[in-house]
This record gives sequence, C-alpha cells and structure tokens, in this order.
Amino acid sequence: MNTDKAQHDMPPRSARYVGLLLCAVIVGAAVDQLPRVRPLAQGVLSPIGMGGYLLLSMALIWQPVNTGILYSVRLAQIGVIGLALQEVISAAMRFGLNGLGVHDTGFRGVFIDPRGLEHAIATLALVALHGALLARSLRRDANTILTFLCWGFAILALYHLTFGILLDGSDPSYAPTIALWLGTIGITLRARNTGLFSSLWTRDEAGRLLRVLLLAVLLCPLGLGLLFAMKVNLMVQYTLELELVFGSMACLLVPLIVWLGKVLQDRQALLLRLAHVDPLTGALNRTGLEARLGEGHKGLLLFDLDHFKRLNDTYGHAEGDRVLQEVAHRVSRSLSEADILARWGGEEFLILTRDGTPAALGALAERTRTTVEALPPLRQNDMTHNLTISVGYGRLDQEAHDFTERLARVDRALYAAKSLGRNRAVCADEPEPEVPFNPELLNLCERCDRFGPPRKTA
Ligand code: GH3
Ligand code: MG
Ligand code: MG
Repeated sequence: MNTDKAQHDMPPRSARYVGLLLCAVIVGAAVDQLPRVRPLAQGVLSPIGMGGYLLLSMALIWQPVNTGILYSVRLAQIGVIGLALQEVISAAMRFGLNGLGVHDTGFRGVFIDPRGLEHAIATLALVALHGALLARSLRRDANTILTFLCWGFAILALYHLTFGILLDGSDPSYAPTIALWLGTIGITLRARNTGLFSSLWTRDEAGRLLRVLLLAVLLCPLGLGLLFAMKVNLMVQYTLELELVFGSMACLLVPLIVWLGKVLQDRQALLLRLAHVDPLTGALNRTGLEARLGEGHKGLLLFDLDHFKRLNDTYGHAEGDRVLQEVAHRVSRSLSEADILARWGGEEFLILTRDGTPAALGALAERTRTTVEALPPLRQNDMTHNLTISVGYGRLDQEAHDFTERLARVDRALYAAKSLGRNRAVCADEPEPEVPFNPELLNLCERCDRFGPPRKTA
C-alpha cells in the first residue's frame, strides 16, 4: 500500500478529534475510579469497558478507513467483542436463573439495579461499536445496521441518565454514557462520505434541516417523557419503563430521519445532474459550468469541431452524435481532475483550467488539439473525414464579470484559428494575429455580439 493511499484512507479529521476526546474521557474515568474503587454496580466502567473504549479511540484515531486494518487491531477488537459478549451472556443466565430482585455480580446487577444500566448499555454497545468498525471493511450494510444499533444504545443511555437524575435523583456515573456517545459519533463520522449517513453532513439547506430534525427527534421524546412523568407524579419505580417507552420512540425515529435525508440527497443529486449535465456527452452544460465559475480557475479554452456540418451531411446525424460523445470522452480523460469540460454549444466545448500561465495554457490547447486529431478518421466509400478542432485560449481573472469579457476574446481567437486554416490553437492574450481576409470572418462580429460589449472593470 503506498503512503498516499494510506493517508487518503485515514479517518476524517473530525473522527480523529472525537477519538482523542474519547481517549481523554476514558483516561479521566480511570483516574477518577482508581482511588475510590467504587463498586461496579454504580455504573462506572468495568475493565472490559475501559479497554474496549480505549481500543475504540485508537481505532478512530489511526485505523485506515477502507484498506487493510492492522491484523493485531482486528484481533484485539474481536477479543473485546468476545469478552463483552461473555459478560452479557453470563449476566443474562444469572438473571434467568435467579429472577428479579437478586443482585448478581456477573453483570454488576444491571438487570435489577437501574443504576447499573449505563454499564450494561455501554458493554453491549461495545460489541456493536467494534462490530461496526470491523464490518466497515467487510460489508457496508452490516456497518450501517450496527451503527444504528449504536445510536439506539446511545439514546437509551442518554434517556436513562436524564430520567435517573431528574426523577430518580440517582447519582450516576457519566463516563459510560459520554464514552458511548463519543464512540457512536466517531464511527458515524468515519462513514460521513459514504452510505446512508452522508446526507447528515451536507452544508446545504437540506443538510441543516436534517440536522435540526435529528436533534428534535432525539430530544422531543425526552422532554415529553419527563413532562408526562412529572405531570402524573409517576412513582419512581416506573422510570425505567418510561425511559424505555420514550427512548425507543427516539430510537425508531432516528433511522427514519437518516433514511429520509438519504432519499432527499439522492433526489437532489439527480435533479442537479439533470440541470447541469449535457445528456449526450456527459460534459457539463452551460448552467453546470456557470455554477462552477469562481472556483479559482485561471485559464479558459474554447474549441469547435472543424467542418462538423459536412460530417453530419455526409455520415448522418447519428454518427455526428457519436463523434461528439467520443470527443468529449477523450478530451475529459486528458484533463486533470481540477479542470472542467463543458459543452458550450452544438459542437463547441469549453475548458476551465487551474494553471493560467501562458506555457501551461499553450500546452493544454495543443494537447487537446492532438487528442482529437488522434481519433480514427471517418471513412465512407472513397471519402475520409479527419476529426480536428480549432482552439482559442487565454487566461481568466477572478472577477465575476471578467468571464464574459474573456470569453469574447477567446471566441475571437477561436475564429482567428478557423480563418488561419483550422486544426490549430490561437492565444487570445497575445496581440491579435494578422488574419487573412476570409468571408467567414464577417460572422465574427455577429458572434461577439452574443456576449455583449465588454464591460468596464472597476
Ligand atoms: P467550422 O469548421 O467553421 O466550425 O464548420 P462547421 O460546419 O463545424 O460549423 P457550423 O457552425 O456551420 O456547423 C455546426 C453544426 O453542428 C451544425 C449542426 O447541425 C451541428 N450540430 C449542432 N449540435 C449537434 C448535435 O447535437 N448533434 C449533431 N450530430 N450535430 C450537431
Ligand atoms: Mg464547427
Ligand atoms: Mg460551431
């Protein structure tokens, strides 16, 4: 694996910060717990919980997102899952054998003592958290399901904590709940660019709406539950039932909101694609290109296929369409990722490029010209049609109004290239070339009018 790839696959910076915070919380909890040696029934983190969450924080900070996870980390994660499951199973068996009311020690009395529920949820959630991280490199849908499970545990833990403090007057340990929330946020952040969770991080209005909705869905049942309990003056022993009823309401709503967000995001992407992309060539159309202006491009190229009308007349419109597709495909493949190709008109294409130095622009214009020239010529009977383009190019400044002005100059350069014999590139930034008289040039002024007169710069 090369280092660039490894760098690229590292978790997003936000996930790494959450991992660091998680590490700090666990270390803080350990330092707090050590001198007092509090009984685990009070909901502090067990050694498995601590080890598991520390490993999780390490995985959030360092574990590459997509590629081969270190085998030792994988093994340790499987170990944590095994130990946590063992703790759950042994406690469940004791609960089954002894029934309610017996304070067992296997699972720190978690099934009978509500104060231990934070610990139970945190231990069970460890299985889901590490499972989600392991599943991420194997199956994305398993990762999604386990991440939702973690959200469920995190919500239940939060509800338990709040109900306990406000109704029960209990003195819970905060560390397991905070650790669980940080772990859940961390693994969700790791999946931020893929799958169902990507819609949560978008910066547009839909993304903001979704985040507010998610917050409302998380907190509203909590508020309602507390209000209800206080209003009917519910007895303390029912707080656990209340937590479960209102907590599961939030647990069910969260995946629905996330799913809704994904559906909205997909629809929006489809609409944007329909509005911004030329269906024939797959290049951006005018609207699409105009939406990308102001991204710091420094150079502009305009090229037009030579004698395209003749090609259409000789080989048919369908063949003309195929040529347009092939040209767009080949040229876009020859561009760097930061450059943009757009279909500006019928058989006229426009390129925006980052490097606006004369040498780079000249090289790009020449490369584009030779890319098209290298395409196989069309043949029919004795006739051959070589595919060539004429190119006008020039630098682009950053002021918004500059584009129209520069485009008009580059368009004039393109038509100079046509008049000088086609299949060539002309720079718009140099003194305008001596163009031999050509009746076609009479159309030039007409074309320049398309863009209006050059506006004055401030
Ligand atoms: P020049 O070298 O001066 O550019 O000559 P030309 O024949 O390419 O120029 P002209 O502008 O006269 O012709 C452009 C032709 O492109 C006319 C039009 O039928 C054709 N055209 C425009 N859009 C499409 C399209 O989507 N598909 C096909 N097949 N042809 C198209
Ligand atoms: Mg043409
Ligand atoms: Mg044309």
